Amino acid sequence: MAESSSFHYQPTCSTPGCPHPAVYKVGATWSDGTSRELKNYGLACEAHREALLARARQRRDQLRLAEGESAGPVVLYRLEPGRRDTALSQA
Ligand SMILES: [Zn+2]
Repeated sequence: MAESSSFHYQPTCSTPGCPHPAVYKVGATWSDGTSRELKNYGLACEAHREALLARARQRRDQLRLAEGESAGPVVLYRLEPGRRDTALSQA
């Protein structure tokens, strides 16, 4: 899947086998001191948001940061078509 920060189609839930449209994006802010981005942990529909969030938090806990890097907590963002990652509002 392309790492695009905006989209013009309806994305689907990243849970394997789930055909439902994604409503949330799970992500954590990441910074190396000069640039800041949203690290993507997947997309979730209404039914899978808690499961995806829990998995993302486990992965986040295993993330090893290099010198100068910092990462924020894993949070749910509501997907808003056409909006850039950094402009998404927290759900
Ligand atoms: Zn789902």
